[in-house]
Amino acid sequence: MKSVPRKIETLIEPQPVIEGAGVRLRRSIGTEELDYLDPFLLLDHFESKNADDYKAGFPLHPHRGIETVTYVLAGEVRHKDTLGNSGSIGAGDLQWMTAGGGIMHEEMPQVRPEGIAGFQLWVNLPAKLKMTAPRYQDVRSGKIPEIKTDGGARVRVITGRVGEVAGPVAGIAADPVYLDVKVPPRSTFTQPIPKGHAAFVYVFEGKARFGADGGGDAGLVSHTRLAVLGDGDFVKVATEGSPVRFLLVSGKPLREPIARYGPFVMNTREEIEQALRDLRQGTFVK
Ligand code: FE
Repeated sequence: MKSVPRKIETLIEPQPVIEGAGVRLRRSIGTEELDYLDPFLLLDHFESKNADDYKAGFPLHPHRGIETVTYVLAGEVRHKDTLGNSGSIGAGDLQWMTAGGGIMHEEMPQVRPEGIAGFQLWVNLPAKLKMTAPRYQDVRSGKIPEIKTDGGARVRVITGRVGEVAGPVAGIAADPVYLDVKVPPRSTFTQPIPKGHAAFVYVFEGKARFGADGGGDAGLVSHTRLAVLGDGDFVKVATEGSPVRFLLVSGKPLREPIARYGPFVMNTREEIEQALRDLRQGTFVK
């Protein structure tokens, strides 16, 4: 069987939104243009040195039926939840939170000279795990392997595998790959992605060609854009005069009905009604 390169299917321009108590960010999944990239429900990119853009944070709020993945590039986010966990996520750290049946937490970016930068991704849970017990995988920067490929790319492996190196986040239903990739000028990087899995790249520095087999501007993606990749076996990235940095994320589609209401994502309307009732009655956190 011939190995098929994944090509860019859709280019998405992130949309400015105000979320939480007044945090300015850029959303590229979970918008009118790209409502759902099964199993990914949302991708937010926050990046600002102006405290007014982020200091209001995300005060106490619930989640049910999903996983939220916070990856901080600069600054610090303090968090606290109804299970008694609290801590902070700093530069290079990642938190993979499985909300399952219900969690209430706050996520507060701290005002610091370097501002704040990072991402939050929401990954859907299959019907059978929507009410599972909440779980955190907190990964400090030093525990995320950074490898240098033969082609000169530097890859932080958060989950999934690059060559022989596996990322520290494990046991996730969507069987995801989550990589932070830097490719220097005039270099290439190739990464296998399981066929049939949804995949995207989010280019946040520089530019590169993705999946192109030469010629013109086809496949050229400059920051800041999300590119949905078509199906295939691998993605090939090639830089010209400038470097590129991007997230490469893939996951197995659930192909289940979704009922979505803010921070709750379930399969049916009734389950959403139940979540709202639980919240009103104080029985949300099991
Ligand atoms: Fe949250």
